[in-house]
Amino acid sequence: MNQNQSTTVGFIGLGNMGSGMTRNLQKAGFSLVVTDIRRESADELVAGGAVWAGSPADVAAASDIVITMLPTPRHVESVVFGPRGILEGISDGGVWIDMSTSVPEVAQRVRAENRHRNLRILDAPVSGMSVGAANGTLQIFVGGDVLDVELVRPVLEAMGDPERIMHVGAAGNGYAVKLMINQLWFSHLVATAEVLAIGVKAGVDLEVLRQSIIASPATSNFIENDVLSILDHGDYDEGFAIALACKDLGLSVDLARSVGVPSELSSLVEQIYRRAKAQYGDLAGEMTPVKLYEDLIGAPLRRVAPDTGPILTAVA
Ligand code: NAD
Repeated sequence: MNQNQSTTVGFIGLGNMGSGMTRNLQKAGFSLVVTDIRRESADELVAGGAVWAGSPADVAAASDIVITMLPTPRHVESVVFGPRGILEGISDGGVWIDMSTSVPEVAQRVRAENRHRNLRILDAPVSGMSVGAANGTLQIFVGGDVLDVELVRPVLEAMGDPERIMHVGAAGNGYAVKLMINQLWFSHLVATAEVLAIGVKAGVDLEVLRQSIIASPATSNFIENDVLSILDHGDYDEGFAIALACKDLGLSVDLARSVGVPSELSSLVEQIYRRAKAQYGDLAGEMTPVKLYEDLIGAPLRRVAPDTGPILTAVA
């Protein structure tokens, strides 16, 4: 018998990320109990053997480990503290892992109000987009007690790349690491969109400009790899809604304020993201701020297909 079969994992939040993560838990042999406010989000999982529960309390009561993967801290708070929330179902000594990109306040309140219950709580937000969730290759940043991290490692390894599951320190540090990674990536995106738009408007060929930057000290993973989804496919990654990206940037700026570090650049990037959200809608992809610059120069940033275009031949 697969060792994982003896562990029941409860999962709350079956959206862009949670749907892929639960499919991988199922594949790894874990028994699953799931819920979401959208009943239909569980159809495929239930067909594969997962049990549907009517509330977060029911999920928690039926599981050894409860995982939340929800949009914002407000959603996490309501699922934990709300009527028929996790706290009503979880047993003393139970394990809750919040994998949402969020902040420590909810878990801190749980600990403060439930000291006698010995709950084991980890924050374990992820990077790797919905594709990484589907492929089981997420990077996971875990904050909390090292023994608890080891206890849940097989569950995390079913969803993430074992080499990139990182224990990043005490409770709350996982959230902080994740917010800083997103802040930097969004900053790369805005900076890259700006220089590509300016350079192209100045008359430089897009791919010549990109290859020149890649060969320079100013290169980045973003310009080498991530920007290609737009440049080659016009794909702004709707698997991560810009509304959630704005949420992350807001949390990141709040964190900077709370620790007393000025965040001029982060705040500006947040405003640019909010402009894109206002202009293109909440459900637009996380890379949509590039479109702001494309609209300004009156043309999409697209490169000629690498194997056919004369431009790449020129820089090869
Ligand atoms: P999503 O909006 O696609 O999914 C969230 C799910 O939670 C939805 O299915 C929704 O119905 C459900 N939900 C909301 N309120 C609920 C409640 N009260 N009870 C039960 N279910 C509820 O969001 P997502 O893209 O899957 O993101 C989830 C988290 O992961 C966010 O914190 C996000 O910032 C983070 N994240 C997302 C990505 C990505 O590429 N999408 C990457 C890394 C991290």
